[in-house]
Amino acid sequence: MNTHIARTAIRTATAEFYDAYVLKNYARASVTFVRGHGTQVWDDEGRAYLDFTSGIAVNALGHCHPHWVAAMRRQVTELVHTSNLFRNPNQAELARRLVGYAGPGRVFFCNSGAEANETLIKLSRLHGVAKAGGVEGKCFKIICANNAFHGRTYGGMSATPQEKVRKGFAPLVPGFVFAELNNLQSFAALIDEDTAAIFIETIQGESGVHACTREFLGGLRALCDKHNLLLMLDEVQCGIGRTGKFYAFEHAGIRPDAIGMAKGLGGGMPIGAAWVREDRADLFHAGHHGSTFGGTPLACAAGLAVLDVIERENLLEKVTRQSAPWIAALEKLTAGFPQKVVAVRGAGYLTGVQLAGDIAPVMTRLRENGLLAVGAGNNTIRLLPPLNVSEEDLAKSVEIFRKALAD
Ligand SMILES: *Cc1c(COP(=O)(O)O)cnc(C)c1O
Repeated sequence: MNTHIARTAIRTATAEFYDAYVLKNYARASVTFVRGHGTQVWDDEGRAYLDFTSGIAVNALGHCHPHWVAAMRRQVTELVHTSNLFRNPNQAELARRLVGYAGPGRVFFCNSGAEANETLIKLSRLHGVAKAGGVEGKCFKIICANNAFHGRTYGGMSATPQEKVRKGFAPLVPGFVFAELNNLQSFAALIDEDTAAIFIETIQGESGVHACTREFLGGLRALCDKHNLLLMLDEVQCGIGRTGKFYAFEHAGIRPDAIGMAKGLGGGMPIGAAWVREDRADLFHAGHHGSTFGGTPLACAAGLAVLDVIERENLLEKVTRQSAPWIAALEKLTAGFPQKVVAVRGAGYLTGVQLAGDIAPVMTRLRENGLLAVGAGNNTIRLLPPLNVSEEDLAKSVEIFRKALAD
């Protein structure tokens, strides 16, 4: 068969099969991607795009980084899955290296951000039981932030006070209360003897790129110390180098009691992890928690390859060095289009451009001009380039943005 006809047939079938067979829980763009390399992806019509979604902050090394591909190829032919009934060397090594970044503690592996956060929520319940002298169901309150996003499981959703996430799913998990981000007093006011933990994103991603201030995080750390609460940070999106530090909380010079991570950790392979500080790690006993797929040799090989490249290519330093002028260039758009651009909020490669009006037409113009971005909140366009993006591609993204705004 003529290859053009074959491609057209596959294209038609893909659209038809989505319509007929895939659950309609997403408002998907009608674009089909078939190939990626570095910061570029190609659709099924052969069009190239600059991918500043990174698969929602997942492809930390861009598409198909050669070191990552080689590590995966090797591991696939050696050992893929054994379950957590047994040890595997990659899980041991990845745990050791994550502890190197997070500090003395222990790591649990799972497959997604929501599962990492479930682990933290369960940890806080165990902490509450210990705090209440072994009594269950007493000390279980978790203080979260307005506009948070912690995932789509029942725990994650219950920690996510957004109508669009929760509607239709009541009753939710009890015990979650909400305070205002960067308002320490609002958190302090909710603490009582039933409170077990404070759980927040270090930088809120989904709701529009809102970072915790240094003072706020320091204040939360002190509050948690004073009241024996766990400080649990969701670094699923902002962690693994995205802000130029391995974890975003490092900018504030604090250490939490637990960290949820996922997205960038596998460079495209599904993997999640929860780190628990040494003095809290013994709350989990054998049988308390688990995951059939968590920490497979293959997923951990992906995580190790991501850390290798972050370290060998000095990506933390590179993110810090290259992101500042890029964000400054994006900020100039605010001055250039004062009616259209309200603000640029950036922390390295987790950057949001807030618009005055609807983001949908601008997102479409960006895509038509060859730049893929992600919506956040109601009015913010998120740019999430891979950590190893070139200066040329960063400059190109600003030019495409300028063009889309001018149209
Ligand atoms: C994406 C995200 C999650 C959920 O991760 P999944 O892998 O989709 O379950 C949780 N928290 C934050 C901050 C996220 O950005």
